Amino acid sequence: MQFVLFVAKSSSVSKQPIVLKFGGTSVGDVAAFERVVGIVASQLERRPVVVVSAMTKVTDALLAAFDTAKKGDFATAFSSLEPHFERHIEVSQRFISDDRPNAFNGELEFARGELSDLLMRVTRRSLPLQMLKDAIVAYGEQLSSRLLAEVLTARGVAAHQVDSRRVIVTDDEFGAAQPIIDETNELVRLELDPLIDGGEVPIMGGFIAANRAGETTTLGRGGSDYTAALVASALKAGELQIWTDVTGVMTCDPRICGEARTIPVLSYEEAAELAYFGAKVLHPKTIKPAVDSDIPVRVCNTFEPSAVGTMVVRDSPESPNKIKSIAHKKNITILRISSARMLGSYGFMSAVFQVFERFRTVIDVISTSEVSIALTLDNTAEIEKIVTELRRLGDVEVDPGYAVVCVVGEGLRASTGLASSVFSTIDDVNVSLISHGASSVNLTFVVKEEYVADVIKRLHKEFF
Ligand code: ADP
Ligand code: ASP
Ligand code: MG
Repeated sequence: MQFVLFVAKSSSVSKQPIVLKFGGTSVGDVAAFERVVGIVASQLERRPVVVVSAMTKVTDALLAAFDTAKKGDFATAFSSLEPHFERHIEVSQRFISDDRPNAFNGELEFARGELSDLLMRVTRRSLPLQMLKDAIVAYGEQLSSRLLAEVLTARGVAAHQVDSRRVIVTDDEFGAAQPIIDETNELVRLELDPLIDGGEVPIMGGFIAANRAGETTTLGRGGSDYTAALVASALKAGELQIWTDVTGVMTCDPRICGEARTIPVLSYEEAAELAYFGAKVLHPKTIKPAVDSDIPVRVCNTFEPSAVGTMVVRDSPESPNKIKSIAHKKNITILRISSARMLGSYGFMSAVFQVFERFRTVIDVISTSEVSIALTLDNTAEIEKIVTELRRLGDVEVDPGYAVVCVVGEGLRASTGLASSVFSTIDDVNVSLISHGASSVNLTFVVKEEYVADVIKRLHKEFF
């Protein structure tokens, strides 16, 4: 009886598709596309679905073109994109031989024409700018996904581009749209299941989506990871693989400290804290749909496909010194609000939070006493309005130029002496704000931005 059950279970497991997400550097040039073809082709029997970012630097270029057009210089805006169109053409010419019709070139011609039209509209302000911005920036992923589908097809893989805007449904928040999960799940299954069952490999652009009216939206910078997680969750995938330019999630940002090492296993909670506080290797929101659906996430290196990378799973064991990794986020502003007249009366905190809610601004770290609050923001777009409102409640101080450092590890809150060893390692650095204990897996503090690299190097040396 047990045997029968096991067979039934294992055969249904093997039918689960897997989702592979390739970041921008993983599709940066001809050599990168070659590596992606190898990685996809080697896993065809696992029923892969591919989610791909824009070629590296393309999203930045499209956003810069939008800004230039907004300032009124349409010609410069449009011509600034030409080198990036050329990069796509170079890849398509290397993979698609001259004796076959090159469908990608036709697609690129359409994109050129449409982008010219959209940038002109930006200059002339003939449609809402936020809407135009998403429509423009979406070409990064539209082109990369189409190109990858053509490249794979040319290499004998039955690939099929699926326009993500037909399946990922969001609200109307251009630039940072929230997916409508039920509708998205249904459309993903409807569109992808028949392709997967027919032995085809669906190729989707990450980051891009559409609202119910069909207008193009985007999920926020770094959002391709999120698309991949949404698709994995909708398909109940067996695994989500995040292919990037480093070997997994590391003990700190390898760009800051050359001694950074790959962490073999992380819990979802650890990964979420790290991602939120700056480890950009995983997008913060990626974690959620994967946790909810119990899908293991593997972070792998496109440049070293055989290296094991990091596995993110629901629970992971504590490491001997408790600390798994140190993340950081720069460009942080501290706001301090104090109000002596609120002493002994309730409602102060709530009044402060309402201001941030009204201006849709996220608070990262917070520390409070009865009548004063210090908090950090990384998005200061609305700061002037926020400060004006807060001044009704008390005195407000705005202090830019900080960085958040977040030390993460399962069991951190419960371990004695850890905070003291962290702070004694950097006892000559002024710590402006500390938050510890809210989550069981992190200790977060704020220092001046110019000290952050040194702080991380010293902590890394001490704990790893
Ligand atoms: P992709 O384009 O593949 O989405 P990202 O640039 O978003 O890649 O993320 C990968 C980068 O994240 C790495 O190149 C690395 O510099 C940075 N990074 C920051 N913190 C970490 C960390 N703890 N582990 C690994 N990479 C990190
Ligand atoms: N291309 C988008 C960006 O650069 C999304 C992503 O790469 O995840 O933010
Ligand atoms: Mg990323």
